[in-house]
Amino acid sequence: MILDKIEQLLAEIQNLSAGSSEEIEALRLKYLSKKGEISALMADFRNVPADRKKEVGVKINQLKQTAIERINALKEQFEESENTDESIDLTRTPYPVQLGTRHPLTIVKNEIIDIFSRMGFILADGPEVEDDLHVFTKMNFAADHPARDMQDTFFVEQSADDVTKNILLRSHTSSVQARVMETTQPPIRIICPGRVYRNEAITARAHCFFHQVEGLYIDKNVSFTDLKQVLLSFAREMFGPDTKIRLRPSYFPFTEPSAEMDISCHICGGEGCGFCKHTGWVEILGCGMVDPNVLEQCGIDSKIYSGYAFGMGVERITNLKYQVSDLRMFSENDTRFLREFESAD
Ligand SMILES: [Zn+2]
Repeated sequence: MILDKIEQLLAEIQNLSAGSSEEIEALRLKYLSKKGEISALMADFRNVPADRKKEVGVKINQLKQTAIERINALKEQFEESENTDESIDLTRTPYPVQLGTRHPLTIVKNEIIDIFSRMGFILADGPEVEDDLHVFTKMNFAADHPARDMQDTFFVEQSADDVTKNILLRSHTSSVQARVMETTQPPIRIICPGRVYRNEAITARAHCFFHQVEGLYIDKNVSFTDLKQVLLSFAREMFGPDTKIRLRPSYFPFTEPSAEMDISCHICGGEGCGFCKHTGWVEILGCGMVDPNVLEQCGIDSKIYSGYAFGMGVERITNLKYQVSDLRMFSENDTRFLREFESAD
């Protein structure tokens, strides 16, 4: 008796058809819902004699599977036919697509890369999670040198016996310079843009990460004059042809001699204003001649080659160009702020 019913339902299900999604749903309810035909069979199943339960059970399962497959197939057919519906009006005006904007740091980074690319510098890239060897040791930071405190960062793994094996978030992109120098012989002329990390309290003027662009040029007979001329050309392209530069002596472990570079304040033209703290100058980058120790550590003969390096913070240059008062705004993802740069290329 129950087997006849199963056969009858199977025949019905194999021939199901439907003309709308409502009809398909009605069929699903009729056969597969809790109050449907197949659930009713399950109730009858209790009365099947024990020695036939296995045979009948298998058949009910097959029936249920067939119903699921058939109804899914109807759904698919229906969706496909809906997609090819010719009643769609292809001439209708589309909804306007909202164009995104470039992030101000990307705009300025690209501008810096453009200027140095035109002077023959090529892009170099490296990992943000680095070892101590490339971030500090090869950059002439001795293991116990206090200069390491200038760049406190975040440690991922600390080695018990060998400080050069510590894994950390890079505190400057100089690690990329180290990686290029150890695999390439001069002439080397690269710029390394990228994100760097420092263990700093987050305020309007400092963050635990920021962006740098560093440059490195190594060849025979490279002098401080070359460095000064390249940086003057950069400053004039970036901030206007009347921009003046001045170099002040400074200290970095990886350069000797080292300098900080100021540009004439482009807001007051050097007259003195609140922005430049009435000095007429604003600091934009650090630079110097590559310390011979760095060249030797990276496998370059310092008796034959010399070079210069410089590094600037992209946030700092962006602040100078757009007077963004709070550094934190760059990473808050507030679209009201980001949309201010809509027209900037
Ligand atoms: Zn000024």
